[in-house]
Amino acid sequence: MFCMRRLLLLCLLGFVPATLADPIAIAIHGGAGTLTRDSITLEQESSYLAILNTAVQQGYERLRDGADGSDVVRETIRLLENSPLFNAGHGAVLTWDGTHELDASMMLGQSLEAGAVAGVTRVKNPIEAAYAVLTHSPHVLLSGSGADRFAEQQGLTMVENSYFSTPRRVEALKLFRLKHNDKSAQGGDEKFGTVGVVVLDAAGNLAAGTSTGGMTGKRWGRIGDSPLIGSGTYADNRSCAVSATGHGEFFIRWQVASDICARVRYQGLDLEVAANEVIHEELAEVGGEGGVIAIDPAGNVALIFNTEGMYRASINRKGEKVIGIFREDDNTVINGQGLSDG
Ligand code: ASP
Repeated sequence: MFCMRRLLLLCLLGFVPATLADPIAIAIHGGAGTLTRDSITLEQESSYLAILNTAVQQGYERLRDGADGSDVVRETIRLLENSPLFNAGHGAVLTWDGTHELDASMMLGQSLEAGAVAGVTRVKNPIEAAYAVLTHSPHVLLSGSGADRFAEQQGLTMVENSYFSTPRRVEALKLFRLKHNDKSAQGGDEKFGTVGVVVLDAAGNLAAGTSTGGMTGKRWGRIGDSPLIGSGTYADNRSCAVSATGHGEFFIRWQVASDICARVRYQGLDLEVAANEVIHEELAEVGGEGGVIAIDPAGNVALIFNTEGMYRASINRKGEKVIGIFREDDNTVINGQGLSDG
């Protein structure tokens, strides 16, 4: 009663809370892969759940306050890039040569503007470089040292390549080299820790972003799906926004992100049906491992993966929050408010 009266008053005054007036929603992933309960300790599990919760909650609150979707995608990815837990920014995986080459991209659903960087080695937050390409260059994708130079010229924070290293990733490379002591190995691991965010903002615009160190032991300047618009990232207000994680070579060839949106747009499929078809039928049939987070203009969210787990969190248009890691977490709704830190 109190709420209705208050809402009426706010409407009369021209102030309508974003959650009631316009649907907003956010979804986050932190990578997919061989994630079983016995593959990580309880302590690790709670660290992942805590940061996923913080990221999704902060992002949601910014959207509720009317923030632009592109800002929320950037801020949320930056938080995950700065965490050593994920394969993006600090904590990124190592190449065969023991260095870091990072990829990131962003796309806006209203204008179809996009920006991406591939194989950058010195920019602290590659998602900021991707956004700078989108906003301050006439191009969509910059690569290697040129992309680093551009980021520096844009005034972004630059770091030594060793900033991205963590003992865990150094160990992973050692193991990878032992296992694949064969020059034809193209890179790969059972876990993918890429990060991605998709949002629907209060203005009704979709946005998507993805950031990654790629795959452990990658060689020869290999570039995955994450910086490729249509493969790892896509956003179009007429259909959906998608960020992917998984074995990039498959996501590139199957054009996963744009294929999901095309099914929504041209076939009129529900978001979840479209994402399931691509991940569980198209990709699973050929052994393409991974998953996606996706959001549509109504604020529906899909968290779909064909691996044993995917670090994921979302708050949909109804304010229902989901946080999960393992398959059996079953996207359980944690609370119906989307407003507490629960
Ligand atoms: N898709 C990324 C790549 O292939 C890896 C990941 O999702 O972790 O570079």
